[in-house]
Amino acid sequence: MIQVISLTVLLIAAFSGAAETSGSHQSCSKDQNPLILPAHRWSCSAGAPLEITTHTLLDSLPLDEVKDNSVRTVRRCAFSQSTPTPLRGALQLAALSKDVLENVLELDESVMQNEDVVQFLSGGKLFLGSFPLAHRYGGHQFGYWAGQLGDGRAHLLGEYTNRKGERWELQIKGSGKTPYSRSGDGRAVLRSSVREFLCSEAMHFLGIPTSRALSLVVSEEAVWRDQFYNGSVRKEKGAVVLRLAPSWFRIGSLEVLTRAGELDILRMLLNFVIDQHFTAIKPNAPNKYVAFFSAVVNETANMIAKWMSVGFAHGVCNTDNFSLLSITIDYGPFGFMEAYNPNFVPNSSDDEGRYSIGAQADVGLFNLQKLLEALLPVLSLDQRSQAEQILEEYPQIYHRRFHEQFKAKLGLLGDEEDDAYLIAFLLKLMEDTGSDFTMTFRQLSEVTLLQLQNNSIPQELWALWDLSSHEYFSDWVKLYSQRIGSQPGDSEETRTGRMTAVNPCYVLRNWMAESAIRKAENNDFSEVALLQQVLTEPFVKQMKAESAGYSSRTPAWASQLRVSCSS
Ligand code: AMP
Ligand code: MG
Repeated sequence: MIQVISLTVLLIAAFSGAAETSGSHQSCSKDQNPLILPAHRWSCSAGAPLEITTHTLLDSLPLDEVKDNSVRTVRRCAFSQSTPTPLRGALQLAALSKDVLENVLELDESVMQNEDVVQFLSGGKLFLGSFPLAHRYGGHQFGYWAGQLGDGRAHLLGEYTNRKGERWELQIKGSGKTPYSRSGDGRAVLRSSVREFLCSEAMHFLGIPTSRALSLVVSEEAVWRDQFYNGSVRKEKGAVVLRLAPSWFRIGSLEVLTRAGELDILRMLLNFVIDQHFTAIKPNAPNKYVAFFSAVVNETANMIAKWMSVGFAHGVCNTDNFSLLSITIDYGPFGFMEAYNPNFVPNSSDDEGRYSIGAQADVGLFNLQKLLEALLPVLSLDQRSQAEQILEEYPQIYHRRFHEQFKAKLGLLGDEEDDAYLIAFLLKLMEDTGSDFTMTFRQLSEVTLLQLQNNSIPQELWALWDLSSHEYFSDWVKLYSQRIGSQPGDSEETRTGRMTAVNPCYVLRNWMAESAIRKAENNDFSEVALLQQVLTEPFVKQMKAESAGYSSRTPAWASQLRVSCSS
């Protein structure tokens, strides 16, 4: 099956008690928690106080009986209790998502005035009700079973249900060692934390299922990293991102249980995830694990098609980085493709290009196969064959989603037989000319059909200029004009309006993140703030973004930029 999808993909492509947390765990008291005050103000009328809790998780899933934080092989649990290690030295709030604060946590910005807020956001102090946990998971990394992985530098602080009834799990990353730290130091450096903070928020505003980020706290604590694995170890600053997701369970969360033969816990975790997050599946349905698998297959195809629609390459599509809720998680050496190239590999450590942008759909299939393997012990023979059948459908599901995304990018209405050809033809021209992925689609949304037909493209539409150098460009324009021209009731204005609403002018290109990181390393967080703000409206042309060159050609200084797994 992998071969089948490779061919098709190629075709498309070618074409928290204020207690200090350094000691034993303690929750803070209500009065000492700065984040609870405004919530109380409004929640009095709503009748329910803000509360971060781990009850739902721990009432349903087993906790590690061993209580020490030492690195070890953990058995028979989903979580280990682990206390964050506070960052050393002065702390600074480098970035904050107002949208997460106000619309996810439903807190007033005034909470940020509390002098201890950076402690709460980085694990130095704990929110009321918080009982920090490290999750036990495993995973297939670069195609091979890697054994126990787990939250080696992240702590789940607790969960929060907002007034809309949305359940969010708050996690801090870079907050110190846990039983799953293996040889790592439990820390995350500023550069990778800036990237995760900015990209997860940017992806949300691009309309792609993703974890969110509330805050980025930077410290003076020295963290040593060999960024390009070439023996050049550099001192960097430690940072903590507070990130949120409806659930942080991954494919690897199930795999580790099956591999350990802990089938009772496997069932508990599956039942919990279905009960909490797949509410369309009845708890007593005899086929619920098959229905769950089917939903994950569908939504994973959807997520990857959406990644492709914005030229996003995750970089490390291991099963431990693939969410059971099919949201984008664990941002590391990701990249947004610039010159169109199906072989684009963002991660300089990925020598074989296993996780190239064009391979992501295949990798999704591989990961879903691993999910199915993890589910096998709870499936009857008949259910196994049903699940296999569902997996067989993944290529079609993916292609349907991909096709829908790209049709919308081109402003096509309805369905025509040759639409796939029109899309593939354009992608082939883009590949041959190396035209910029984001701006080619954006500028196609801004140009008039007449300008395309007369080849009188305004010079500022630089990506289209690159594309128009192709000998078959006018042939493509002819087909495209015919297709667009035949759409009843459509006008240039409505077409361009539709297209600009789905084709962003701004994505987090590597050079943009790098420019912000270089300043942040010198305590200047202005460009982090600028990027964060610009990327909340990626489809809207903004003066400040234009002046910063965010929709222009990548500057020459950035041509050799690389990112690696080191974080
Ligand atoms: P990642 O490549 O970031 O998805 O991480 C893979 C695994 O390595 C996960 O189990 C992480 O928790 C762990 N890990 C990565 N970096 C560190 C670190 N600095 N300290 C401890 N564990 C880490
Ligand atoms: Mg990971």
